[in-house]
Amino acid sequence: MSNNDPSFLRSVEISFEKAASLLDLPPGLEEKIRVCNSTYTVRFGVRLGNRIETFTGYRSVHSEHMEPVKGGIRYSPHVNQDEVEALASLMTYKCAMVEVPYGGSKGGLCIDPKAYTTEELERITRRFAYELIKRDLINPSQNVPAPDMGTSQREMAWIADQYSRMNTTDINARACVTGKPLNAGGIAGRLEATGRGVQYALQEFFRHPGDVKRARLSGSLRGKKAILQGLGNVGYHAGLFLSTEDEVSIIGLIERDGGIYNEEGLDIEDVFQHIQTTGGVKNYPKAKFIENGYTLLEEECDILIPAAIERVITSENANRIKANLIIEAANGPITAPADDILIEKGIVVIPDMYANAGGVIVSYFEWVKNLSHIRFGRMQRRQEEYRSRLLVEELNDMFQNTTLNVKFSEKFIDHFLQGAGEMELVRSGLDDSMRLGYQAISEIWNSRNDVADLRTAAYLVAIERVAASYASKGL
Ligand code: NAD
Repeated sequence: MSNNDPSFLRSVEISFEKAASLLDLPPGLEEKIRVCNSTYTVRFGVRLGNRIETFTGYRSVHSEHMEPVKGGIRYSPHVNQDEVEALASLMTYKCAMVEVPYGGSKGGLCIDPKAYTTEELERITRRFAYELIKRDLINPSQNVPAPDMGTSQREMAWIADQYSRMNTTDINARACVTGKPLNAGGIAGRLEATGRGVQYALQEFFRHPGDVKRARLSGSLRGKKAILQGLGNVGYHAGLFLSTEDEVSIIGLIERDGGIYNEEGLDIEDVFQHIQTTGGVKNYPKAKFIENGYTLLEEECDILIPAAIERVITSENANRIKANLIIEAANGPITAPADDILIEKGIVVIPDMYANAGGVIVSYFEWVKNLSHIRFGRMQRRQEEYRSRLLVEELNDMFQNTTLNVKFSEKFIDHFLQGAGEMELVRSGLDDSMRLGYQAISEIWNSRNDVADLRTAAYLVAIERVAASYASKGL
């Protein structure tokens, strides 16, 4: 969607400036925090068959107030410096917002991954990684990438292996990248983490009746109607969990080739399988197909979930949005002018820097796991089970010695005895982080008259934390 709104980076800067103007920062610090520290551009050639192809890649470091810096690597033909710097900036604020001890970074490669074979993609990825590793732009203690649009566990495994080959004595080599498959040092729950975080964010929002009222909604998450854009990693997991666990009805889905709509709600797994086999949503038999999918953004619904790309809600279409609540599962889906229009219309936006932070939160857990070289829960799980069993058996004995005819059900005992494995611990840590994050921004949104939206509140939280970090460094 083309539009004259500011670029992605400028939109991030405008939101930043709006919040910074409400803070009393020391002179010059605002600019120091806002600007990207460095952006490395690399052009490299790879022999593919009988030709040599040249690729352009970026790794941008926004802020090193904490190290390592962290941020995904995106594969898309549209990757450019502005986009990479915008995403790197968001990473700084995102990490500060959810108290993950990293600075912000982001990388990108201008490539259409669908145009290459798996073998070609592996060679290209390893070559790109080589360029970044030799400059410490991939390094467990300095710069740790993760997946983003167009990349997945597979690319992360190649990058981790490339780093190990170039750093054969580094015992922490696996911590050089997160989002890896389990067999290559990944962590349970990372694949689903961003979508799961979106679900936890919405659950927490609906635990705040005052905030729900401000969105002109009522009741709980259950039964709400939602429209989703993008059924990739983030959109698929968010849509799946919300529809199967919270009874949210996903009535519309927008993908690259159009949109589909069914008032009764879509079966997300079924649609996902259809996309896997046919390459798009067209011809999906259980919904109405809409050629121009973008019009679905403007359909009536309770919750709009953009989970694909940036700049889809602009000053051109913002006025026509009818959703009560928008949760930015993608990075930067709303431009700064569109944001102002939505605020004016009373549409509540749960901002990207908080809403999609689940990925970096669980990446943090994965990095800690790699550095500690042990799976979470490995030491204590059976000990917890043993103590719980002792308690249940003791209580059952006590019940038998009374006239009360009571005993624990088998189902309760099964659940109670299960010590927490890695997945349970990861979800618990993610849920806790998402709850605390929302509480911090909701508090500001509700207590300050000069803060009209959750995005400004989130920036205030993040900027204050980054500024405190700079202050303790003597800046
Ligand atoms: P992905 O590549 O797995 O999925 C993107 C999906 O969006 C695909 O299904 C694609 O077909 C669809 N899409 C692309 N362009 C579209 C368009 N114009 N209209 C409709 N659909 C379109 O990517 P992802 O990892 O799910 O990332 C999606 C967004 O979430 C990005 O903004 C990314 O930066 C953000 N994000 C991702 C993560 C993560 O852990 N993967 C973490 C935080 C934020």
